[in-house]
Amino acid sequence: MKFGTKAIHAGVEPDPSTGAIMTPVYQTSTYVQASPGAHKGYEYSRTQNPTRDALQKSLAALENGSHGLCFSSGLAAIDAVIKLLNPGDEVIAANDLYGGTYRLFTKVFAKYGIKFHFVSMEKAIDIEQHINKNTKLIWLETPTNPMMNIIDIKAAAQIARKHQVMLAVDNTFATPYLQNPLDMGADIVMHSVTKYLGGHSDVVMGALIVKDKKLNDDLAFLQNSSGATPGPQDCFLVLRGIKTLHLRMQRHSENGRKIAEYLKTHPKVDKLYWPGLENHPNHDIAKQQMRDFGGMISFTLKGDSQEEAFRIMERFKFFSLAESLGGVESLVNHPATMTHASIPKEERIKVGLLDSLIRLSVGVEDAEDLIADLESALD
Ligand SMILES: *Cc1c(COP(=O)(O)O)cnc(C)c1O
Repeated sequence: MKFGTKAIHAGVEPDPSTGAIMTPVYQTSTYVQASPGAHKGYEYSRTQNPTRDALQKSLAALENGSHGLCFSSGLAAIDAVIKLLNPGDEVIAANDLYGGTYRLFTKVFAKYGIKFHFVSMEKAIDIEQHINKNTKLIWLETPTNPMMNIIDIKAAAQIARKHQVMLAVDNTFATPYLQNPLDMGADIVMHSVTKYLGGHSDVVMGALIVKDKKLNDDLAFLQNSSGATPGPQDCFLVLRGIKTLHLRMQRHSENGRKIAEYLKTHPKVDKLYWPGLENHPNHDIAKQQMRDFGGMISFTLKGDSQEEAFRIMERFKFFSLAESLGGVESLVNHPATMTHASIPKEERIKVGLLDSLIRLSVGVEDAEDLIADLESALD
């Protein structure tokens, strides 16, 4: 099955009791048993729910995995991965991560005795020097949020395999439409389903997808034991969102390209970050591992003035100033004070996350209107 067909059909069967083509919202906490233990595979909705099952199967198919697991947020999904580890274990993480991931690692899990090393992975070979006998996991995002760095997943997977360390890839920005990390050797794919998979800015959810049964069983144990599972209504909304994932991603990528082209020569723009640009430092790797380049774009202003960045962001008509990304509507964000405010200033400056950095989540509106909006806001 090709991607668009999977997006519409994978994991979804007509409802066995009525034939309903859309997966029903099984809004139930429990399931009646004829006699103790005689159930139909469903006992209690934290553990199993048919609406969630359909979504988990759909996600597994989209990422070419064999198992999908949904969580009540992206961070809850990451939380489950780190709970696979024990005190004394070490994690090598990319130094340019979603702010909430950095906070979860440094403020929650560090105190349980798990050690995190934040390193540049722009050259994947650099990962190897940080591996020691306690290393259990490599964690990366690509493209990264918000600097749009590209990390070579295949090369990272080779290093992980050589040292018998797990590799987890946060694939939120690329989505399975643009990139499939499991095919490149990753062990775990993570998504903030809140973003492109949901796609309509109406759900907060996370997911993990794996190929290995034992890894799935361990994660499913944590999913049920820690209990951060999503409700059936949210699962339904995401199942519905996924039906147009391929169509949305095509338009996000097309609009992303048009807007990057427009900003490339704008006199107020200093640095422009979009992996589809030929001068992007890892453009060649992006071309190899991604099918297109998506609609996430960041840029800084000449003179690096935060006030100027604020002034611009307040003047948009169609780009709404908000956290989050990946919805049908265009959003603009100021990472230094919004999504990435939990990262210390010295750390963020090191990776180029300057005070004037503006991040765009380019929606699926008409590109002409979006460019006109940029033109008047940047004026
Ligand atoms: C939003 C986001 C997360 C966190 O997901 P939530 O659903 O907000 O908990 C993790 N990684 C990336 C790249 C994100 O954009």
